[in-house]
Order: sequence, then structure tokens, then C-alpha cells
Amino acid sequence: MSRFSLLFSLVMLLFACKSRETATNSYTAYTGATIIDGSGANPIQNGVLLVKNGRVAAIGPKATVTIPENTTIKDVAGKTIIPGIINGHGHVGEVKGIESGHYSTQNIIDNLAIYARYGMTTVVSLGGDQKEAEPLRAINDTTATQRARLFIAGAVINGNTPAEAIAVTNQNHQMGVDFMKIRVDDQLGTAPKMSEEVYQAVINRSHQLGYKIATHMYSLADAKKLLEAGSDLLAHSVRDQRVDTAFIQLIKKRKVGYCPTLTRELSTFVYEDTAAFFTDPFFTREYDSSIIQPLKDPKRQLQMRNSRSAQTYKQQLPTAMSNLKTLCEQGIPIVFGTDSGVPTRFMGYFEHLEMEMMAEAGLTPMQIITSATKNAAEYLGLKDLGTLSPGHWADFLILEANPLTDIRNVRKINRVFISGKEVTKR
Ligand SMILES: [Zn+2]
Repeated sequence: MSRFSLLFSLVMLLFACKSRETATNSYTAYTGATIIDGSGANPIQNGVLLVKNGRVAAIGPKATVTIPENTTIKDVAGKTIIPGIINGHGHVGEVKGIESGHYSTQNIIDNLAIYARYGMTTVVSLGGDQKEAEPLRAINDTTATQRARLFIAGAVINGNTPAEAIAVTNQNHQMGVDFMKIRVDDQLGTAPKMSEEVYQAVINRSHQLGYKIATHMYSLADAKKLLEAGSDLLAHSVRDQRVDTAFIQLIKKRKVGYCPTLTRELSTFVYEDTAAFFTDPFFTREYDSSIIQPLKDPKRQLQMRNSRSAQTYKQQLPTAMSNLKTLCEQGIPIVFGTDSGVPTRFMGYFEHLEMEMMAEAGLTPMQIITSATKNAAEYLGLKDLGTLSPGHWADFLILEANPLTDIRNVRKINRVFISGKEVTKR
């Protein structure tokens, strides 16, 4: 190619980009719906959501929002708009069906597309993220996306000594992660637990590098120590016992989010029988019977029924649920998350189960929605996400029914939008 024609092509390319930008520069108004903005405020009746260039331009009751000339009007009267759901604790890229070992760029994209079709517009992957994930986070800034936004934590940090663990922290930093993540759990006495000396060193190093650090924990005693040590997110429920006043005061003082992941517990024992949701059309639309066949094997079911760990987690689920209720009543920010994207924790579908279990634990639909929108964005530090407010990304769901009357109405997805762009149905 001659120098001239190269220059010519570049100029044409610039023009092409420019005109495409102009095309997305117009306004679209979604009018007439009930709008829940994610902040916890009362819903807007007969609302207008005005979108421009992938972001919210204005939001409010019809009488208060000026709709500019040449705006494309979409009448969505009778429907409910909520912000896209943020999964504050998921995993991405490793699983296909119920198998792990599929980590690749394409599988990350496929996983994020499943999440998006179920209404999860952002996924914070708390560990297991490899180099393939890093460039895909550019999606956080594009205005044309068909898959959930991605944030990553890189490798779950581990090590026998502070030096070993700090080396992993540094590697994550070099990879360009968004968070750090550690695990402080002896898995019911079956594995070595990270020592206080090691996790304190990792937390200090993470903070020094400017990261929030999420901690996988299990017991009340460890949760307290981790809060004292500087953890920025408790990534699971306290499950071994009821939370006490000292814990409540500590988590309040530290202003840290609490991520219940109740479906993580569910997944440890639910396959001891044929799970009821296997015939739910909302499940089977993404997960067909060949995928779940191994989970119906009577031998596998018996194993689960006889598994000490499965039965312990099952027994402790009510404790996790009552802790969630207590902490929510105490005003502790609940950050929605599931720990899905691990084999048998079905991404997308488990988030809906999680919301239903949170309701069963005693949270109101508004508290659940707020945990999955405002709280998740605020306590994970996700910029321009969470609530539907001017300047934020236009990530939202149009629902056929109002979830404030029943959280299961979040399943009644009419359409999903990321950056104002509709996610294609399967
Ligand atoms: Zn996890």
C-alpha cells in the first residue's frame, strides 16, 4: 500500500468512526414505566428514562423531564425498569456446563453473555482470572456490548510466608486487576488456613498498591480478625454461629460490605436429590438436560447425602440467613453476590435463586434490589454503575411485572440493556 493510500484509508476510517458516533448521539426515552432507580428511593410512577450515548441523560416523573426534539420514544407503560443487576461475587471463564477447565477468551465472553441474558449487567469476578480476562475489561468503557461488564481479581492470593503471598499480590498488580482476593478458611478442618501474619501482609500490600481486598471467610472469629486487619469486603456469610454485637459494631465502624452468597451453600447440598429447578423453563432456556444429566446420577446424589461437608453447610444455611437478616436490619450494607461461575453454581440463574433466598431470609424486595445495584457499586467502588442517575451507564432491565410486589418478578425480563444497547435474546 502506498503512503498516500494508507493516509487516505486512515482519513476514511476517522470519518467512519465519527459518523458512527453521531448515530449513537441521539436521545432515546423510555416512557410510562414504573422506575426503581436503585438508590432505595420510592419508585417513580409514569417515569421517563432518557438515554444518550450509552448513559443516563435524565430520569424522573414524566412531568419533570424535558424530552429533547428528535428523541426516539419507546412507550413502556405498564412495565417496570430497574438497574442492571451487579453480581458482586462471581467467577468467569472457567466453566462450561458443569465442567471446569475451559478457561479461554471465548469462554469468558460466553459466560458473560449468559449472565447478561439473565439480567446481570456487571460481574465482579473474585478470583481465578487469568491474562485473557484483562483486555476484555475494555468492555467497561464501550457503548456497544452484548455481555456483562467485567471486573477481575486475578489469582486468589495464597502463600506459606508473607513474601510468597506478596509476590502473588505483585503479579496480580502487574496483570492489571481491579481487586485483590484472599481465602481464610480451613474448609471444615480439611485444609490449611492462611495465617494472620500472611493475610495481614497481603492486606497491607494491597492497600499500598491502591486496591480493595475481598476476603473469603467462614467463621465469626475470622470475620472479626479480617475486619480488624483491614478487609474491604466480606465475600461470604458468617456461617458457624450467629453474629454478635461486637461483630456488628466492628463492621459498622469499618464501613465494609457483606456479601451473603446463600446459593453457594445451596449448591453444596441441593443435588442430593433431583433439584426442583431442573424443570424450570427459566433454567432450561440456558442449561439443557444433557448438561445436568450427571447431577441426576443416584450414586452422585447418595455421595452428597453422605458427605459431611455438604450436610454441615446445609445445617448452617439457616444461621447464614438469620445473620443476613440481622445485619440488614442493623444497616450494614449488603452487597449482592452468589459465588456462581463455579461448577454446579449456574451463572445467571443462581442470581435469581439468591434474590429469592434473600427474600426468604426476610429482606424486602427493595433491600434486595438496592444490594444488587447501589450497594454493590458503592462498596466495590464501581464507577458510574449501580443506580440509574444522570451520567451513569444506562444498564437496565425492563420487566413485565413489578419486583416490589414479588422479587420473583425480576425473572420476568422483557429486555436487558447494557450501555443503552439491547442485549440480544438467545
Ligand atoms: Zn468465590
